[in-house]
Amino acid sequence: MQKDATAIIIGAGPAGLFLAARLAARLAGRLSPPAGEGVLVLEKMPRPGLKLLASGSGRCNLSHSGPIGDFLGHYGSAGRFLKKSLYAFTNEDLALWLRERGVALEAEEGGKLFPASRRASDVLGVLVDECERNGARVIAGARAVEARREGGAFAVETLAQDGSREAYGAPFLALAAGGRSYPGTGSTGDGYALARALGHAIVDPRPALAPVALRDTAICALAGLSFESLAFSIRRGGRKIDETRGDLLITHEGLSGPGILDASRGFEPGDILELDFSGLGLERFKAALDSRIAASPRALARTAMADLGLPRRLAELACSLAGLPEEARCSDLRREAREAMARTAAAFPAEIKAVGGFEKAMVTAGGVSLGEVDGSSMESRIAEGLYFAGELLDYDGDTGGYNLQAAFSTAEAAARAMAQAACGLFPPGSTMPPPRATILP
Ligand SMILES: Cc1cc2nc3c(=O)[nH]c(=O)nc-3n(C[C@H](O)[C@H](O)[C@H](O)COP(=O)(O)OP(=O)(O)OC[C@H]3O[C@@H](n4cnc5c(N)ncnc54)[C@H](O)[C@@H]3O)c2cc1C
Repeated sequence: MQKDATAIIIGAGPAGLFLAARLAARLAGRLSPPAGEGVLVLEKMPRPGLKLLASGSGRCNLSHSGPIGDFLGHYGSAGRFLKKSLYAFTNEDLALWLRERGVALEAEEGGKLFPASRRASDVLGVLVDECERNGARVIAGARAVEARREGGAFAVETLAQDGSREAYGAPFLALAAGGRSYPGTGSTGDGYALARALGHAIVDPRPALAPVALRDTAICALAGLSFESLAFSIRRGGRKIDETRGDLLITHEGLSGPGILDASRGFEPGDILELDFSGLGLERFKAALDSRIAASPRALARTAMADLGLPRRLAELACSLAGLPEEARCSDLRREAREAMARTAAAFPAEIKAVGGFEKAMVTAGGVSLGEVDGSSMESRIAEGLYFAGELLDYDGDTGGYNLQAAFSTAEAAARAMAQAACGLFPPGSTMPPPRATILP
């Protein structure tokens, strides 16, 4: 027997939960559900919000404190699509909504916004509580395997782990099933197939915000070492194609950290990153090294390097890569050795072997094609009554809270439009209470 609902939302990540809570809050007291079930959230995993719990290493960098206009440039060309939803529900609106529910936010240096407790579980707790308080029901362990149009409504079938199936129907359906990255959290790309079945084109999903593995792993001896705002250029086929800066972390396989993750969207295997650990650039570093050597010829070479501001382990690696013994002194250094040491410090060539796949990428680029979705309401331009929210859409943002803010803003836009449509569908004279002229709280 099919269970009927007012609206079905597929996916209980931040987008799906926020959408459900906001939609149910708007409908509460204004609309009785047509047949028993009101707003339903179907979640395939045993628990909602697993990726949210992992976000920001469990600390949840859920937005950024900068002006909302500055957000747009952090999503590449998708910024234009996101503009309306971001302006309609800003970082300040999100902070206020959470604060009113007991979760204060704090900005860290650079503007990243976190819950003051630094616990993602506090944010998830509010989302789940708000669903419950407003009467939206989250059904966990229910994987949506099929969604189709049936008359003027949508029919959704779910499959539970024990193999049992359920059928649901509703005049409104929202897909918020996330992307394909970190599949262990439940986001395995199911949403693309569901959207496709309902007539939508999918822009090829690709891993984004991913760490890189290096071909030569000599630098990985320094795993754990991190650098703030490190300048690096990207060379492809012998040509410099870009230069940027950002925080960088050396890992056991290669490089990570926000600066690398953000830039990884443009990397290809074989690209060479020239890393300036010195902050001086190659020519100025060479000049500084020459002066240092002239001033203290008896100093150890590795001490001279460290004196120029390099971390000691990097100074030692630079000497060893230049073929110097540990006790080499400045007076022993030939031109080639100085050149090699300066290159490690100020233009270290790190060749990319691979850019992390979906297992390691924080987000997915690609997804439901934005041209087929209305950027104000998140409603499909192809199937009336179908909405989208979150990472399933073809956007991906930089690190710094931009991805979660987009999930919340798109969810809010969908919730507002779905509430308006639901009230319009059950006008005065039907069994439903009449909609108010303004239904926004
Ligand atoms: C390790 C990590 C750290 C991150 N840190 C940050 C950060 O600090 N700041 C930031 O802004 N972003 C961060 N992100 C990205 C951010 O978490 C995502 O962009 C965000 O979670 C997307 O929200 P969503 O609701 O659209 O999708 P998701 O969070 O992926 O949720 C989708 C939900 O849908 C469910 N689902 C999928 N298919 C089905 C189906 N067939 N039936 C039912 N349910 C289904 C999934 O199980 C999942 O629960 C991080 C990501 C990762 C992996």
